[in-house]
Amino acid sequence: MMEKNAKIYVAGHRGMVGSAICRALGRMGYANLVTRTHEELDLCRQDQVEAFFAQEQPDYVFLAAAKVGGILANRDAPADFLYDNLILELNVIHGAWQNHCRKLLFLGSSCIYPRLAPQPIREESLLTSALEETNEAYALAKISGLKYCAYLREQYGADFISAMPTNLYGPGDNYHPTHSHVLPALIRRFHEAKEAGAGEVVCWGTGSPLREFMYVDDLAEACLLLMQVYSGKETVNLGTGEELSIRELTELVAKVVGYEGEIRWDPSKPDGTPRKLLDVGKLESLGYHHTTKLEEGIRRTYQDFLAGPIRARR
Ligand code: GDP
Repeated sequence: MMEKNAKIYVAGHRGMVGSAICRALGRMGYANLVTRTHEELDLCRQDQVEAFFAQEQPDYVFLAAAKVGGILANRDAPADFLYDNLILELNVIHGAWQNHCRKLLFLGSSCIYPRLAPQPIREESLLTSALEETNEAYALAKISGLKYCAYLREQYGADFISAMPTNLYGPGDNYHPTHSHVLPALIRRFHEAKEAGAGEVVCWGTGSPLREFMYVDDLAEACLLLMQVYSGKETVNLGTGEELSIRELTELVAKVVGYEGEIRWDPSKPDGTPRKLLDVGKLESLGYHHTTKLEEGIRRTYQDFLAGPIRARR
């Protein structure tokens, strides 16, 4: 059990996932949190990370820092995605281990399972066949982080665990027009189309891929639960177990935003993996079931978008 006064480092606390973890910790009465902004601590710099861990010696670490992006960002900058993620992960996990951190939770991603893994995807599918090529670099880095945690457990008995979140969305998301993930991209595009009175919006690919989406505050609660009750070398899928097509998603986002024009598809943009649904049996057996329905979560995210800084919407 994580004691209420334990010292907890949340790496990536300004990101969508890290900030949700901080909110969840706050709700549960954990007040001894350690955070650093990117300006204060560059997680890609080994010397800085070593000095930070030696000074702070956190009891628990949530590793929610990563370089993330949507399908085009990943496809266009594979070298950056591999380098930044790999070096950041190794620095943080190693620093935590060297400084006797009691437990660390590393976050992978459902996109690191094989492209054609049997659906719904079970944890055992990892590394059983080829990766989706649009995010291979990111996947290789995340698989290495996950394995490093498992190897530290195997070789030294470190209680370092990993979890595999599905596609996430929620407050604090990145609404960049081309480099974000699909859900925030659609919120922005439909909102701008509504404001401009546009009769048509173009979405990427064919609309036929199937995706699962989890609201980030639900994810954060699941992360806290794992930190409290799970110790094992296998990863744990974090998702809802529910999926819909990208076409259905566009209709839902259009409804929430109040856009009433046409939706057209641009098949010159990549579809990515055809289906990505997690088997959440293991998570549910640990006692967690998501609570936020997709439409409600999109509504809250749209409110966040509307309240956010103007520059995020330019
Ligand atoms: P993925 O789950 O790793 O494939 O990442 P994304 O969230 O970027 O994309 C999910 C699916 O949504 C893909 O099939 C995209 O082609 C499709 N999609 C449709 N419109 C958009 C858009 O405006 N932005 C993004 N990122 N994806 C879009």
